[in-house]
Amino acid sequence: MTELDELYQEVILEHSKAPRNYRRPEATNRSAEGYNPLCGDRFTVFLDMEGDAIRDIGFQGSGCAISRASASMMTQSLKGKSKKEAARLFEEFHRLVTGHAETPEERTKLGKLAAFAGVSKFPVRVKCATLAWHTMQSALEGKQNPVSTE
Ligand code: ZN
Repeated sequence: MTELDELYQEVILEHSKAPRNYRRPEATNRSAEGYNPLCGDRFTVFLDMEGDAIRDIGFQGSGCAISRASASMMTQSLKGKSKKEAARLFEEFHRLVTGHAETPEERTKLGKLAAFAGVSKFPVRVKCATLAWHTMQSALEGKQNPVSTE
């Protein structure tokens, strides 16, 4: 496989072409903006929180294939999750894309998100893959300032 094949696995390509939850949920009660100046990725993540649970989540904006696919798959993974579960999943995803998820069990736990394992070989792309997640975390915490990866 070429480097590009490894990086842009099929599932990533598919999500980047047809992002899921690319919308602002009607009942959005939290949102945050995120920007990755290295690549130009810029997203807003919208949350519809019911107490401690993510009842609905969506995003809008523009970015490279990796950042779009990551945002799309993140929204699918987080719908219905609690704040704590979302934080834990981000932690596990972060370990994966930075090359620290070494055991097969760790990867299996991440399900489809494991497609991003190849990103760990491209340090510049780690910011693309985690931008939506950082932005989601900021929205969860109700922060006012836009997130920047720099
Ligand atoms: Zn990017």
